[in-house]
Amino acid sequence: MVGRTAEAGRLTDYDAVIVGAGFAGLYQLLRLREVGLRVKVIEAGTDVGGTWYWNRYPGARCDVPSMEYSYSFDEDLEQEWEWSEVMSPQPEILAYARHVAERFDLRRDIQFETRVTAARFDDATDRWTITTDRAETLSARFCIMATGCLSMSNLPNIEGRDRFAGLALHTGNWPKEPVDLRGKRVGVIGTGSSGVQAIPVIAAEASHLHVFQRTPVYTFPANNRPLNDEIVAAYKANYAEVRERQRHSVAGFSGFNPKKAAITPTAVPDAAAKPGPPESGDTPVAKPKRRSRGLLDLDLDERRDAVAAHGPAVFQRYRDVYTDPAANEAACELYRELVDDIVEDPTVAEDLKPKGYPLGCKRQVYDTDYYETFNRPNVTLVDLHRDPLLQITETGVQTESGDVDLDVLVFATGFDAMTGALERIDIRGRGGRALRDDWSEGPHTYLGLAVEGYPNLFTITGPGSPSVLSNVIVSIEQHVDWITDCIAHLDANELTTIEATAEAQADWDERVAEAAKGTMYTAPSCASWYLGANIEGKSRVFMPYVGGVGRYRKICDDVAADGYRGFTLA
Ligand code: FAD
Ligand code: NAP
Repeated sequence: MVGRTAEAGRLTDYDAVIVGAGFAGLYQLLRLREVGLRVKVIEAGTDVGGTWYWNRYPGARCDVPSMEYSYSFDEDLEQEWEWSEVMSPQPEILAYARHVAERFDLRRDIQFETRVTAARFDDATDRWTITTDRAETLSARFCIMATGCLSMSNLPNIEGRDRFAGLALHTGNWPKEPVDLRGKRVGVIGTGSSGVQAIPVIAAEASHLHVFQRTPVYTFPANNRPLNDEIVAAYKANYAEVRERQRHSVAGFSGFNPKKAAITPTAVPDAAAKPGPPESGDTPVAKPKRRSRGLLDLDLDERRDAVAAHGPAVFQRYRDVYTDPAANEAACELYRELVDDIVEDPTVAEDLKPKGYPLGCKRQVYDTDYYETFNRPNVTLVDLHRDPLLQITETGVQTESGDVDLDVLVFATGFDAMTGALERIDIRGRGGRALRDDWSEGPHTYLGLAVEGYPNLFTITGPGSPSVLSNVIVSIEQHVDWITDCIAHLDANELTTIEATAEAQADWDERVAEAAKGTMYTAPSCASWYLGANIEGKSRVFMPYVGGVGRYRKICDDVAADGYRGFTLA
């Protein structure tokens, strides 16, 4: 009997509490309502949207096709929503999240401006007690973490960080009011996806921009442009099949070719149709199908053409780039030539060239006019390897070569990814054990969905799932549907709790590690946020599951069909 645990009159008792109102939290609320649960969502921000609520920096947009980076659960929603660009800008994605909240009347169950600080499982009652920073206490049978993989901003511990007297901003916590950068001297620290998107837009507005670069980035043109009516119509006419293909793909992309208005047999979209970078997602380089020819089998001209034509999709085309360091380095060398072709000043070009780590070890970055920006007279690149950052001062940034005076300092320094938001909450499982302690040497999960010792706790797109290696909305919907079915199964069978077994969790940990072995993700020279390497003191463990969303979905479905194999149901 669904919903039996809600006690009438006690407004703080729920069947489920969901933490976070991004795309995951919104869809989970909708689904749990459908199966009759009494649900509360707690969200730290003042509105829905998650990533797209917080990341309002200039140039912020998705870098995967919007026609695919959207919910699939409602046909009318699919048909009525209009995206303006192939990769839509942040305000539009936020407007979409708001539209979904309105359309499905979700806001009435969401409490905003409230941060969950603790969640404790009570062995005696089999319920979770959830505490917020408003000193409220909620009780729920299920606690569902929709806290996001990239929601906890990383402000690095740079000497003098808080001393700056000008305006200091983090891309992941950008103000809601527009920030006027006209005529301002701006500094940006960081050249990952956020920095690369923001830098060209800031440069066009600021009087001068200093880019403080620690690690040069491999970035490929996003090829973004307005969406034309034919492409939209083709997608909308074929959405059912597009979505089905996404669900069973490697990285959550359908391979739909809108020009031919047909689903192509290949998983890589037609380059002519250019619906964004091939197989792009929060990393497009999931393990490719075996190809007969490797990059090293081509002559130099053919290799050059391959890198220029396919960009990061050389991984899909030539397996050796993905697994053989020599082939990877050959691709990187050709990539560096592309930098020389664009950047006019040879010293700046040299400084911008990524070296010493493989293409494909980090989340792929896509840009619009990134390298071209360094040809502008009002942009200065500061290579922190040659000219180390000493400290942040009241007036700007001091490097070994001197002081750079700034009005605005932008930290594009990323996130404590995958585990950061979860570990900021004091989560206590059976016997008071702490998730922070259990994960001190890296996260342990069963399927990225559940943790042994923490009954009735679910993590949407948690570590150990494909999540950030995919079109994340596809992964979110899969997790939410699985969790909803699981809860409905418990209720239908009058079961109270579900908990991962230690054996199943250990097996899954091993499988996650095994899948990443021998790929560029775990190359010895790779230091990515997938590995936790961007956060001081964080254990280096490769966190997402590389096996692909289609395969992963099948594993999860099989587990459920097999009576929730690897879980104890009580
Ligand atoms: P989020 O959107 O991160 O939402 C989590 C919410 O939980 C947040 O609103 C947060 O405030 C809230 N929260 C966290 N902890 C607490 C707490 N303790 N108490 C209360 N509330 C809490 N993915 C793609 O597939 N394609 C893209 O192009 C893409 N672009 C991206 C661009 C940027 C700038 C970033 C940062 C990420 C991007 N991603 C992209 C990944 C993106 O995070 C996901 O696609 C998706 O939006 C995640 O949704 P979510 O609901 O899981 O998490
Ligand atoms: P990121 O990829 O982690 O990049 C952070 C940048 O800050 C890196 O260049 C890093 O240099 C630099 N940095 C960190 N600490 C520093 C320090 N102490 N001194 C100097 N430099 C420092 O973070 P992000 O750019 O915010 O992107 C995070 C993820 O969010 C992406 O990988 C992607 O998944 C998602 N995202 C997606 C989009 C999109 O277009 N769809 C846009 C933005 C973000 P090092 O490399 O040397 O550490």
